[in-house]
Amino acid sequence: KESNSRENNVAKIKVVVRKRPLNKKENSRKEDDIVSVCDNGLTVHEPKLKVDLTAYVEKHEFCFDAVLDQQVSNDEVYRETVQPIIPIIFQRTKATCFAYGQTGSGKTYTMQPLPLRAAEDLVRLLHQPSYRNQKFKLWLSYFEIYGGKLFDLLSDRKKLCMREDGRQQVCIVGLQEFEVLDVQIVKEYIERGNAARSTGSTGANEESSRSHAILQLVVKKHNEVKETRRNNNNDGNESKGGKVVGKISFIDLAGSERGADTTDNDRQTRIEGAEINKSLLALKECIRALDNDQLHIPFRGSKLTEVLRDSFVGNSRTVMISCISPNAGSCEHTLNTLRYADRVK
Ligand code: ADP
Ligand code: MG
Repeated sequence: KESNSRENNVAKIKVVVRKRPLNKKENSRKEDDIVSVCDNGLTVHEPKLKVDLTAYVEKHEFCFDAVLDQQVSNDEVYRETVQPIIPIIFQRTKATCFAYGQTGSGKTYTMQPLPLRAAEDLVRLLHQPSYRNQKFKLWLSYFEIYGGKLFDLLSDRKKLCMREDGRQQVCIVGLQEFEVLDVQIVKEYIERGNAARSTGSTGANEESSRSHAILQLVVKKHNEVKETRRNNNNDGNESKGGKVVGKISFIDLAGSERGADTTDNDRQTRIEGAEINKSLLALKECIRALDNDQLHIPFRGSKLTEVLRDSFVGNSRTVMISCISPNAGSCEHTLNTLRYADRVK
């Protein structure tokens, strides 16, 4: 079938690495840039010391579906990662785009503009002559997973819970969905949601690095007759009526170094670290199972993967954007991030 062959043109799993430039602080400390990029390959030059204290460099080489060097713009990131998936959202695709990496490596910088660009393209397609008669509508929601719990970022951090219906559809009970009528409003939703991300005494970036933020754009098909009936007895995902056609989730993951917090002295930090570690491991396992067309997807491993359950079955697409810092001081975290991405591939 024509639609099938078109779908198959977009890889099921794409792993992309993005390197950010050295920042002011790193520059003022005269830190070395230890990451070099060549096409879709990348080399980390790890500074090391011999027992007699002479310095040498150990090279680590990697290869990914794409490597985006420091001068690459957010627009190019969009074109390389999310844009090819947009048309097949209308063909029952559930897509997920993750940003992974240590705190400060550029996850939020990378993820922030993507839903806006995606909404622009989705709305444009929605109004195409061939789709105009199909009553498609675009909906947006934005929530957070913090310490294994779900919070709605667009309705005063209301606590949410998850339910599954009999058809492997995930339903987040009470999650607010907003119709996207014009694209400008998406920007406002993103800003509103970001302001609501968990902040604590330690400051916003510190705390947001401990949570996963999930923004979803959902295309629904609306059937006016059935809709009234549905509205009467349903809450959760279908409260706004319509049948889910396809969706794309943008996930700004917790800082990958947080998984190592399991040794911290503070009990709360240790619990969070264990949870984050669990979700990053479970995520990797699910993506790998997906890639191998395994029938059993181990999504029960964490809240994150449970919430994404319906994006791991059927016609799904996954883009992993691994963000890395170029400075010598981040070498160990950078290597960990690249090894994680390498295993997902
Ligand atoms: P994270 O979300 O992974 O903790 P951020 O996205 O907050 O990291 O990025 C940390 C800092 O680096 C921010 O000030 C951001 O503006 C800057 N930055 C990140 N990536 C880039 C990039 N590709 N180009 C320029 N500046 C960047
Ligand atoms: Mg961030």
